Amino acid sequence: MEFCPDCGMRLVSRRNKKEKKVVFNLVCPKCGYTKHTGDKPPVIPKAIERSPHESIAIIGKEEQKLRTLPTVRVECPKCGNNTAYAWQVQTRGTDESSTQFFRCTKCNYTFREYS
Ligand SMILES: [Zn+2]
Ligand SMILES: [Zn+2]
Repeated sequence: MEFCPDCGMRLVSRRNKKEKKVVFNLVCPKCGYTKHTGDKPPVIPKAIERSPHESIAIIGKEEQKLRTLPTVRVECPKCGNNTAYAWQVQTRGTDESSTQFFRCTKCNYTFREYS
């Protein structure tokens, strides 16, 4: 609590918008004396800290998905590597056929099995 040095009245907190900043002043309600308290609000909002785990999860998402895929022995047409991740994609509109996809574990080249 602060008092006006001119008239002894109790100063009241006033919030003023200055340009884009919000400025807090202590103002005397009687004589208009203004004491600048800076632009710090009385309650400093807590900075929202980003969880480091969150970003790791985003980066590793694709890799995690691949890690759960089974690997099969199939020759990569691009680099000749003989191990690839395999998964099946249901062909849109048909319920009897699905396409077998492979992704080379070495060069990440994705290819499909033509039957
Ligand atoms: Zn005053
Ligand atoms: Zn390859």
